[in-house]
Amino acid sequence: MSFTLAIVGRPNVGKSTLFNRLVGKKLALVDDQPGVTRDLREGAARLGDLRFTVIDTAGLEDATDDSLQGRMRRLTERAVEMADVCLFLVDARAGVLPTDQIFAEILRRKNAHVILAANKAEGRAGEAGMLEAYSLGLGEPVPLSAEHGEGMEELYQRLRPLA
Ligand code: GDP
Ligand code: MG
Repeated sequence: MSFTLAIVGRPNVGKSTLFNRLVGKKLALVDDQPGVTRDLREGAARLGDLRFTVIDTAGLEDATDDSLQGRMRRLTERAVEMADVCLFLVDARAGVLPTDQIFAEILRRKNAHVILAANKAEGRAGEAGMLEAYSLGLGEPVPLSAEHGEGMEELYQRLRPLA
């Protein structure tokens, strides 16, 4: 049995970068699967010996401030419903922003199984944000660098029990 992982979080935290790393270039993205809108990209992921489905919540990047909250709420709720586990990304360099708190609240209300990750954690610039992430009350954050491929071993250890 495999599982479905939804990558959620506000725009620009690195969700798509991580999605692309997990799915790889060989595997095409599938936009036209039933029940999957263009705003939810689904792909076949591999991490070590794990094989799972990954969902990227896209489509928020072009939203205005007015439309962002409702759209991201609906989109995130759909992704949560499709997924067995949510990887909630925050930006370790930016720290925890009010928008991150809104996402945390959505995940809590949906009773989602959440793995918290602080992305962009390469180097020292992410240290403060990494510590701030604990304040979300969603457990110990996994330090990640989606761009540089760091933290994948720890992510693997967190996901392994789900396989
Ligand atoms: P999304 O909006 O959450 O899907 O974020 P993207 O994947 O589009 O990334 C937003 C920006 O953050 C891009 O400029 C990425 O190159 C950058 N980015 C993503 N992951 C990392 C990382 O691990 N470290 C750093 N420094 N930048 C990253
Ligand atoms: Mg994206």
